Amino acid sequence: MPFSSLGLSPALLRAVSAKAYLAPTPIQLAAIPAVLQGRDVLGSAQTGSGKTVAFALPLLQQLENRSMERPRRVRVLILVPTRELAAQVGEEIRKLAQHQPQALKVAIVFGGVSINPQMMRLRGGADIVVATPGRLLDLIAHNALALSDVTALVLDEADRLFDLGFAEELTRILELLPPQRQNLFFSATFPLAVQTLAQKLLRDPVRIDVAPEPQSQPDIVQRAIAVDAGRRTQLLCHLIQQNAWSRVLVFVATKHAAEMVADKLRKARINAEPFHGELSQGKRTQVLADFKASRLKVVIATDVAARGLDIVQLPVVVNYDLPRSALDYIHRIGRTGRAGQSGVALSFVSADTEAHFRLIEKHQCLNLPREHVAGFEPVQTAAVAVTPSAEGTSSAPATGGIKGKRPSKKDKLRADAARGQ
Ligand code: AMP
Repeated sequence: MPFSSLGLSPALLRAVSAKAYLAPTPIQLAAIPAVLQGRDVLGSAQTGSGKTVAFALPLLQQLENRSMERPRRVRVLILVPTRELAAQVGEEIRKLAQHQPQALKVAIVFGGVSINPQMMRLRGGADIVVATPGRLLDLIAHNALALSDVTALVLDEADRLFDLGFAEELTRILELLPPQRQNLFFSATFPLAVQTLAQKLLRDPVRIDVAPEPQSQPDIVQRAIAVDAGRRTQLLCHLIQQNAWSRVLVFVATKHAAEMVADKLRKARINAEPFHGELSQGKRTQVLADFKASRLKVVIATDVAARGLDIVQLPVVVNYDLPRSALDYIHRIGRTGRAGQSGVALSFVSADTEAHFRLIEKHQCLNLPREHVAGFEPVQTAAVAVTPSAEGTSSAPATGGIKGKRPSKKDKLRADAARGQ
């Protein structure tokens, strides 16, 4: 079925064809008519399913039919968990809105940067706000915007909002919204906290469960390479050079490892930068922009980059350190093979991370052969494998990225969220 049979306006069809989207994805087919009818939606869909377009097009159409007051009042509020996702969703909506008969103002707001420029940009109001919850509340506290005229709320990646400890902010934001509104709720997973919020929020929602069909499943070849932990950086350099990969996203367990591995790659004359939560927002934006524009070949990232980032034509993702969970594994490898392109996801497996990788495989119904690369055949066994996360960076026993029993910051945030703090 083409986009033109979904009841979208000529301005939106023009924007869709400018993006070269030939046909709607399954979630777009299901969500666009439902949202146009004013229904609430509860969507569960894989990353890369096209959900941004699925909610953006019908919401833009609703605004198209409405007379606009000045100053502009926030009609559509989209809450997202991370700064990068806010920027990505906001930019996509701006592109889709570019042919609208009445120009729309899309404000993108997130923390980690100075609030003043965002306050300046909100002068005169905004029609659509894409925000992370904490900064949104700060802006409301500064009277930079109000939510009393919101007619549609979108929660994007709701599970991740809870993971990052935004439960309290969400409750406060919901209290500021008018009770009469349309609610669109998207989540990759549905833990109890997400189910409870969905039940509270949604009225008779259209449930959209896009089961991955064979032809819509991202085309990702998953491979596992057995290597001693202490030789992973050399192996990474070797693979990048031998395969002449144009763009590689490498996941590590810690910020320190991201810095160290990037440093070693640069010493081997490979253009690499770290990407993690302790970099300034300006630096993070710059790294992503350079990566997207092919000015940068390799990004060494912590899981801050695992969700939501959409990098066009990313052929290879490498798990230098294994992810903590099977869910993180899905999100990491989902950075490649997007929008109909094929991709390769490589995991480095060492003697001491073998058991953990088997658990991920079991969860994913995978059974990958352990490949050996000539010159990098592993010699260590689990009992003797004592190597740090980025080799040579610490004297602690190897975990290959699986953190130990000590709760991480993320674990603490999860626990706090579960306690409703
Ligand atoms: P999302 O799930 O919103 O993160 O979107 C994943 C990717 O799919 C983005 O790169 C979109 O530009 C792309 N996309 C969205 N809708 C379509 C479509 N109908 N056809 C092809 N690509 C699409």
